[in-house]
Formats: sequence, C-alpha cells, structure tokens
Amino acid sequence: MADKRDYYQVLGVEKGADDSEIKKAYRKLAKKYHPDTNPGDKDAEAKFKEASEAYAVLSDPDKRRQYDQFGHAAFDGGAGGGFDFDVSDIFGGFGDLFGDLFGGGRRTNNGPRRGANIRVGVTIDFEEAVFGCEKEIEVSIKDECKTCGATGAKAGTQPVTCSSCKGAGKIVYTQQTLFGVTQQVQTCPECNGTGKTIKEKCPDCRGTGYISNRKKISVTVPAGIDEGQSIKIAGKGEPGKNGGPRGDLLVDISVRRHPIFQRRRYDLYSTSAISFAQAALGGDIRIKTIDGDVLFNIKPGTQTDTKIRLKGKGVPSLSNKLARGDQYVTLVVEVPEKLSAEQKEALLNFDKAMGGTLEEAGKQEENDNSSVDKKENSKEGKKKKSLKDIFS
Ligand SMILES: [Zn+2]
Ligand SMILES: [Zn+2]
Repeated sequence: MADKRDYYQVLGVEKGADDSEIKKAYRKLAKKYHPDTNPGDKDAEAKFKEASEAYAVLSDPDKRRQYDQFGHAAFDGGAGGGFDFDVSDIFGGFGDLFGDLFGGGRRTNNGPRRGANIRVGVTIDFEEAVFGCEKEIEVSIKDECKTCGATGAKAGTQPVTCSSCKGAGKIVYTQQTLFGVTQQVQTCPECNGTGKTIKEKCPDCRGTGYISNRKKISVTVPAGIDEGQSIKIAGKGEPGKNGGPRGDLLVDISVRRHPIFQRRRYDLYSTSAISFAQAALGGDIRIKTIDGDVLFNIKPGTQTDTKIRLKGKGVPSLSNKLARGDQYVTLVVEVPEKLSAEQKEALLNFDKAMGGTLEEAGKQEENDNSSVDKKENSKEGKKKKSLKDIFS
C-alpha cells in the first residue's frame, strides 16, 4: 500500500478539481488503458485499475472526504478490513460509465449488472470508536425468490421476450431536429431494461423476483474510526441482475459524545481541575485518560490554563493500531466556593505571609459590621465588600 500514488496525481487533476473534471480525466485514461483496447498488456491493465480505483474514491463525495483527510490510510483496512478497496467491484459499479465510453454497444441492460449498495447508519459509543468493537446490525436484505428462481414468473410459466423492445431492453427513438436526425436511446419502460416481461407473476415475490429478509450482520468496527466515516461490507448489498455480483453494504458511523473527552482527528482534548495548593506546590496530579487514570508531575507554580501533552494517550490510527494520537489537557486551578472557619483562617494566615493584601479589611470586619451601607462608596467599604464576597 505504501507505494500507492496519489489519486489526484493518477488522474492528473488538481486537488480542488470538480466532479466533471475528475470524470473527464478518468474517461480519457480508461479509454487509453482499457483491457479491451490493450489485450494482454499487463502494464495497461495495472494503469487502468489504478485510474479506476482513483476514480472510485474521488467520484464518491464521502470517500473523497476521507481520502483528503487521511490519504490512502483511510482505505487501508485496519482491524475490520472494512476499508479495503476491491478492484473487482469497479467493473460492475461503473457499468454506466463504460457503457457510454464505448458507444453504448458493449454493455446492454441484458448483461450482468452489479446490485446497488445499501446504506445503514449505526451509532456507537466514544470508546467503541477509539478502541474498535463488534456491532450487530439488522438490515433488510433482498434475496432471490426461491419459488420462481428470481424470474418473477409464476411456477410453470416463463418470462417471455418483451414485445416492445424485442428483448433488447432499450428503445431507440429517432428524431428529426434542426441539426439533422438524432437518436436517443432509452431503457424500455415495458420490461425495465430486462428484455423480458412476465405474463403471470410469482405470488411470493409479486413478480419482482426478490424477497426482503431482515438479517443480522456482525460489523467489525476498526479502532480509530471517526464520526462520518463508513465501513464497507462487500457483497451484502442488493442482489445483482442477470448473474451480476451483489452490491455492498455501507455502514455509516455516528459517534456519541463523551462527557470528558473531545476528539480532533486522532488527538483527544480534556480539562483537569487542580487545587490551588497543587498548583502552587507542584507534584503528582491524577489525570483521566481514555485508558484510565494516570499520574502526571507538575512543577511548583503551575498557572491556570497550562496545557500539557500526554503522548500516545489519543486515538489509535486507522491504518496502524500501534500509532496513537496524543491527549492535550488544560489544567484549571479551582478556587473553592465554600470555606470552613479553619480554612478561612489558614488563608488569612497565608495572605499575611504573602505580605497581607487582606489584612486591613480583615481587621475592619471585627469592629465594624453595621456600617457597610454607609461606607459603600468609600475605599474601606469597597474593600470590605470584596472580602465578604470571597468568604460568604
Ligand atoms: Zn418469485
Ligand atoms: Zn422491453
């Protein structure tokens, strides 16, 4: 995986290229390197696959976002293998694109078509996203109807060739316009492009050929996954048509908030309260991490809002479980809101030892309790009031 080229480079487009530029660049490469145009040419085939893979990612807004954020690591797999890119999917998935690439003649609607992808959302806990987990989800999955063998026709009957399109699955409309005769190809509405129609419908699947079943699927969520990312489970999507492979199941991940930690990419952020004594004297303080409490030694005279870094206490990287982000902790010195008489005295003594910013007002309190209002505007009154605020 390490020697993979940058997808933008592969397609020869700028990072900010829009969808049409990406599609255009890919079509050009696909035409040049397509196995049909270069039979037996391994190099062309590799180039074709590389371009197809780049296109698969960059043409999908979700995948492109993940790629822009994490590079190839976003699809490297990790524990669940969920992000592995399956190149064999490309051909089926881009059926339409190749269809018009080669003039529409090669791939008709009668050929094998890959089934559509299914998307489901799942919400996991913060820790589950950090360390990975197994989740059982219930999905409604279509399977071929066994009664009719997916033909949709009642037992004993067979689908018949569509009379509208004579089995072609599409209808060519010829139109006389200002610019001459133009041809428009449309999927046959009678048979939905299958080329066959059903006279008597199978009662089990009502002629669709498929039956929906609720199924439980176990999803391996890789450690390090983040809000908005998805896990691909290959082959668990809608069934393909005419022998084509099934689509994929895409599980979109939402992550619940954590009361203590915030996450940015692979780093965690938190706030820890320390006492005035701890801040002033320094020493070991207890800090909560996602792995449990750790002791961290702070130096004497640590100020409020000091930020410390706990290396490797962040989130494991999706591409490498052993590589973890860091935790950044903001230390906040707490001022006590209530004090006992003993604590007040200790603080007054401490203040005295510091040079006595409270001494004057402290003395006033003893002999003058009733004159607060009168002295409101005087210097002494203000001092007294502030002292009361602190100790009340
Ligand atoms: Zn049926
Ligand atoms: Zn038809």
